[in-house]
Amino acid sequence: NEPIVKYKRVLLKISGEALMGDQGYGLHPPTVERIAREVKSVRDLGVEICMVIGGGNIFRGLAGSAQGMERTTADYMGMLATVMNALAMQGALESMGVFTRVISAIPMDQVCEPYIRRRAVRHLEKKRVCIFAAGTGNPYFTTDTAATLRANEMSCEAIFKGTKVDGVYDMDPKKHAHAKRYDTVSYDEVLQKNLGVMDASAIALARDNNLPIIVFSLDEPGGFRGILAGQGTYTRVQ
Ligand code: UDP
Repeated sequence: NEPIVKYKRVLLKISGEALMGDQGYGLHPPTVERIAREVKSVRDLGVEICMVIGGGNIFRGLAGSAQGMERTTADYMGMLATVMNALAMQGALESMGVFTRVISAIPMDQVCEPYIRRRAVRHLEKKRVCIFAAGTGNPYFTTDTAATLRANEMSCEAIFKGTKVDGVYDMDPKKHAHAKRYDTVSYDEVLQKNLGVMDASAIALARDNNLPIIVFSLDEPGGFRGILAGQGTYTRVQ
């Protein structure tokens, strides 16, 4: 008995740090594999999946510029870090038999495909997981903005933001026992109260295009699939 799924096409955004497990840096292959299994379980429901993975587990532009690097150079290094993460995720997914394309905003033909919108749409129609790498291809942006941009371009019905907690809280639930989780919250409230869902430009781009953001816990086994099948706890930013 397959559950009824409300979504046909979604984008999953995870930070680079989600791939490093308990390490302080880089990639933790068992963790990459665990997340790949979550993605596969949703793909197996027939949902078309886009992914954007950050690069913060390897390199962040802001950190580089704080140490005296030129900001744009540091940002390009951050974008390259997202390509490494995308390749790791592709490897894990394909080892499970899930056809996957890594599509980069910065062409690097020997490594992955360049971003061509109509081609990416075709991959999705053929049920291939599309991992969008190298962010937007521009310095001074983040992968949150890239996720919102690609979700709009690919006509996704929602962005699923996988985090360490099961939604958006009025204060940090790991520090305050009485923190309250929102079931739904408006884009404007997220911006006004600086609730830390995604950066402000990503939230504004989602708001201006009525793209809901579903914040959920990626640490919960089966959580991603559960939410797509109408179960579990999460916050919907709308
Ligand atoms: N980045 C960029 N333009 C983009 C996306 C990313 O310059 O469109 C750079 C930026 O330096 C950023 C780094 O890539 O710090 C890694 O991305 P992000 O910080 O969003 O990763 P996350 O925090 O999600 O792991």
